Amino acid sequence: MECTKCDADAVMHAAYSGNHLCRSHFLESVDRRVRKRVREDSLLPDSATPENPETWLVGLSGGKDSVVLTDILHRTFEQDPRVELVALTVHEGIQGYRDASLAACEELTEELGIEHEVVSYADEFDLEMDDVVEDDPKNMAACAYCGVFRRDLLAKYASEYDADKLLTGHNLDDEAETALMNILEGNVEQVARHFDASLGSFDERGEKDGMIPRAKPLRDVPEKEVALYARLADLPVHMAECPHSSEAFRGEVQDLLLSLEENHPGTRHSIMAGYEELASIAADRYRDDGEEPVGECDECGSPTTGDVCRKCRLVDAVNAV
Ligand code: SF4
Repeated sequence: MECTKCDADAVMHAAYSGNHLCRSHFLESVDRRVRKRVREDSLLPDSATPENPETWLVGLSGGKDSVVLTDILHRTFEQDPRVELVALTVHEGIQGYRDASLAACEELTEELGIEHEVVSYADEFDLEMDDVVEDDPKNMAACAYCGVFRRDLLAKYASEYDADKLLTGHNLDDEAETALMNILEGNVEQVARHFDASLGSFDERGEKDGMIPRAKPLRDVPEKEVALYARLADLPVHMAECPHSSEAFRGEVQDLLLSLEENHPGTRHSIMAGYEELASIAADRYRDDGEEPVGECDECGSPTTGDVCRKCRLVDAVNAV
């Protein structure tokens, strides 16, 4: 099959747009979508100049999403040094998994000349995910602990680096899955939070809560296209799956979305378009109702609405076993 835009052979077909694209038009189309998101979600203030650049902290796991994100951001700001990138890798303490992906992170950041910091649950919380899974004091899925610990470290190091933005590599499939899960669970508050955390309104909230604005520039790019991009651009990627990834509900939603997308191309895009609008309305309602005041955790000083933040409560529970 020929590329829709030139005479070269197509390497992919996007059923949702009807396009067949060759290697170079495919890479260009992903670059364009990501840069458009960066422009729309992370508008640079006039105060950002090559002499006084913004610092953007990128969560780099070594998987395809964060590697592709880091590579595109690097090439975007290489010629426009109003942004300085710092990559942060979180080592969860998962045998045979994170060490291999750490090598991919080091190869990429060395090649691109990006500052790279590695932090671990062992150093920060005195625990490792392999032990958390073994003890499981709260009877929860591994990812429920791990997500709280990771978010805490990303926020902590974004603050230590005095970062202006925190960026993660969530793709279109991740976002559509989360959106659908929130709807299916009937969790309106979570819908509102998802809007604040990822759909572009966080600047206002960030100021109010002292939280660092976040962005997900890959959120328009389907997972399969991110994987193809990584392969065609020959990026160092660690492809293995975490042995503890067993979020059963997410797996079911993932299967449902894949089958819907196959039968009705464009479903993920339309879910996200409708969800953004819905989430914006939900976020306004929660703001109007007034949220609980945000104070400081008695143990670590992080922002929290209670006396002790959720991360400290989980760390205490794990270390008490
Ligand atoms: Fe942590 Fe779950 Fe990701 Fe594994 S899959 S690294 S347990 S969040």
